[in-house]
Amino acid sequence: MAPHDGHDHDHAHGHGEQHGQPHPHRPIQEDLSYRTESAVRARALKELLIEKGIITADEVRRQIEIVDARGPHMGARVVARAWCDPEYKKRLLTTPNAACAELGIDLGETHLFVVENTATVHNMIVCTLCSCYPKTLLGIPPDWYKSFAYRSRAVREPRTVLAEFGTSLPDDVEVRVHDSTADLRYLVLPRRPEGTEGWSEERLAAIISRDSMIGATLVRPDA
Ligand code: FE
Repeated sequence: MAPHDGHDHDHAHGHGEQHGQPHPHRPIQEDLSYRTESAVRARALKELLIEKGIITADEVRRQIEIVDARGPHMGARVVARAWCDPEYKKRLLTTPNAACAELGIDLGETHLFVVENTATVHNMIVCTLCSCYPKTLLGIPPDWYKSFAYRSRAVREPRTVLAEFGTSLPDDVEVRVHDSTADLRYLVLPRRPEGTEGWSEERLAAIISRDSMIGATLVRPDA
């Protein structure tokens, strides 16, 4: 088994002995986040809404399941299709909600705007106010996307931020930063990397990362 977390000692913490496997990871710590004030308030609100018969516990559970099932794989399917089908790409850029619906992705009330990276323009997205993000296509945003540092620096010094992600762009490439709002979400359509000619949509989708659809990175064929 490959070690992770940077350590590879064969420590035995109780259950590790039971099935005879060394556990190259730290024991799972108790999650105390459910005790925070906002978590307690949310739980009280949920219990009250259930008690009043406005929602059911199953509806809440189902909604959590829907949200948890979303992830960057959905955005990657859309991007891969756009790379392979120029007509689809046109529809994605002009009528993004309908184009996503073609692939069975329902964006609901979200007003999506797709911004295309080209040889001369690089787009990146941010929500300077909070954490607005195309969740229906990319899932839950990463912590760094919600951080004050990213939200403030992405607009002030985008090239420096990009460099910190390991993304360097030629000086003549214009960087455009798009500020998301509650009403308008952006998705970056990354550039298809050279060396991927003839690849299937499925193979392409596998190299399209979450961060490339935020515009923090470029897609690489060896991802
Ligand atoms: Fe926001």
